[in-house]
Amino acid sequence: MADYDYDVLVIGAGPGGYVAAIRAAQLGLKTACAESRETLGGTCLNVGCIPSKVLLNASELFHEAASGALARHGVKLGEVSLDLPAMLADKDEAVKGLTGGIEYLFKKNKVDWLKGHATFKDAHTVEVAGKTATAKNIVIATGSSVTPLPGVEIDNAKGVVVDSTGALSFAKVPEHLVVIGGGVIGLELGSVWGRLGAKVTVIEYLDQILPGMDGEVRKEAAKVFLKQGFDIKTGTKVTRCSSPSAAVRTPRSSGWKRSGSNSTSAARLRRTTSSRPRFPACGRWAT
Ligand SMILES: Cc1cc2nc3c(=O)[nH]c(=O)nc-3n(C[C@H](O)[C@H](O)[C@H](O)COP(=O)(O)OP(=O)(O)OC[C@H]3O[C@@H](n4cnc5c(N)ncnc54)[C@H](O)[C@@H]3O)c2cc1C
Repeated sequence: MADYDYDVLVIGAGPGGYVAAIRAAQLGLKTACAESRETLGGTCLNVGCIPSKVLLNASELFHEAASGALARHGVKLGEVSLDLPAMLADKDEAVKGLTGGIEYLFKKNKVDWLKGHATFKDAHTVEVAGKTATAKNIVIATGSSVTPLPGVEIDNAKGVVVDSTGALSFAKVPEHLVVIGGGVIGLELGSVWGRLGAKVTVIEYLDQILPGMDGEVRKEAAKVFLKQGFDIKTGTKVTRCSSPSAAVRTPRSSGWKRSGSNSTSAARLRRTTSSRPRFPACGRWAT
């Protein structure tokens, strides 16, 4: 029988990969996990569930305090102001703590972290940062990345047209945030910046927000978001987005059968439409 470096090699250290790697090691298998990010935990811990939930919680606290909603409970406050850098630093601290926690669990359970992007050389061999590693079994847990939307170019560094990762770190509260896609992530991050003072417009291609969810939930959720002050444009397709300065224009056709178009201007625009699997990036042996 062939000799391998590992019994199991997991590619990707997100919630799919790190759990598989730790469990395999706990069951006595010699295990490695390849991860191309600087930190473990994947999308969820680095730029997904965790930072977005920290910001949701913080923005809710701010909104409760700033809107005067606490006064009816007998909690009177003086002037409330936002310290956005502190809020973002708190989010980064939570991410650091949790991703470091996975690193600790890898060490504790003797999972080797192969740092770098893994590509297949053959069905039992991957290359990571110029070194090869062989394994009897290889688990692909590479997650997904944002699907490009024709006519919309994302540049998180500029902070104008961004994806969900960029929308976790705006340096200042956008005056007007246009969210392309009325799914959970878009609505969640729209809520964060809306509570911090941005005007929020959600543009959704389908006739209701929250595609795939129960019809009653979608209807009731739309009421809640409208009450929060969201402007929701359903049955509307974004066809292009340009940002000559700090502003963005999004010409859009309203309804698939209508040919007319109009546009929305915004200080910031973020897209959170669908995502696509990353595994083809591992090379042909992965497919
Ligand atoms: C803003 C936001 C909020 C979210 N909120 C929630 C939530 O509240 N609840 C929830 O359940 N889900 C939420 N999600 C979704 C959740 O993050 C994903 O479902 C989850 O991270 C998927 O886990 P995964 O392990 O499949 O992939 P990922 O977490 O994406 O991990 C895959 C890892 O593989 C690595 N990788 C890819 N290719 C290679 C390669 N060739 N070599 C080495 N490494 C590689 C990547 O760098 C990545 O770290 C949210 C997502 C976002 C963006």
